[in-house]
Amino acid sequence: MEIVAKFGREDLAILYIARKNERYFEFVESLQPPVPREKKWVLIISTMFGCPVRCSMCDAGSYYHGKITEDLLLEQIDHMVSKRYPDRTIPADKFKVQFARMGEPTLNLDVLNVMNKLSSLYNAPGLIPCISTIAPEKATNFMEKMIEIKNNHYSNGHFQLQFSIHSTDKQVRKKIIPYKIWSLEEIATYGDSFWNKGDRKITLNFAAEKRNPLVPERLAELYDPNRFFIKITPINPTEKAKAHSLQSMISPETGEFAKQKIKEIQDHGFEVLLSIGELEENHIGSNCGQHALKFENGTYTIEEFQRYQDS
Ligand code: SF4
Repeated sequence: MEIVAKFGREDLAILYIARKNERYFEFVESLQPPVPREKKWVLIISTMFGCPVRCSMCDAGSYYHGKITEDLLLEQIDHMVSKRYPDRTIPADKFKVQFARMGEPTLNLDVLNVMNKLSSLYNAPGLIPCISTIAPEKATNFMEKMIEIKNNHYSNGHFQLQFSIHSTDKQVRKKIIPYKIWSLEEIATYGDSFWNKGDRKITLNFAAEKRNPLVPERLAELYDPNRFFIKITPINPTEKAKAHSLQSMISPETGEFAKQKIKEIQDHGFEVLLSIGELEENHIGSNCGQHALKFENGTYTIEEFQRYQDS
């Protein structure tokens, strides 16, 4: 792969734009200030060149040029690891490798191979692979095999699984995620077979749009708060979100509304994480696909490029 650009700040997030056979993709390393790298280090890699799913808020779905192969998945990780830890010993208490940048990871079987190998490639006692998925219907095989890999290599809290749900309403989910996906009931059934004692709770993520239903009673009907927890994230300012005039539930103007919603969910026994990325992170553009899209389209301006190079 060829790195065509690198943006960001050492103490927050560094975004790499890379190219392979004229196809662009992105990967990121990030920190959560003030937590030092020795405590927590997060790598976020792409699993596809673009994404075929085309979620309404995500720039990664603006194009799709195929899956990223096992070698290139590993190359993204090793590019970031070898710069900081040439001996491949990673001391971080939590070393998260998130298959969560561009692409739906469960549609790429090479992701399973990488997860199978990863724990033997690095001396990283804190390693935690993280899968974030929209739960495509056709990924059932992947999802079943993933349980085996988790149990064999990443038990006792060393694996993180997130379902991107976005709404408790079936029709609204279909609109946000225009792809054949599991129902909320199917996700609940899978979660129950995935989860073992000692595992991390499974995350149900809502990139919460103010107008989209998020009904706490529905969550309580379906999900066991001992196995699932709820994460609410803002709608990031992607090009797609702007084009669809999406309005985040979480913003200075809607703060009270979000607080009330969180309390209602907590009253049903769930832990709730309100996950707001650093504002600077939006400036760096570390939201999925924003930069790769511009390189792909050839719409990157010299001024923009220089501005980010200087940052
Ligand atoms: S959010 Fe994920 S699944 Fe949806 S278009 Fe973006 S990369 Fe694909």
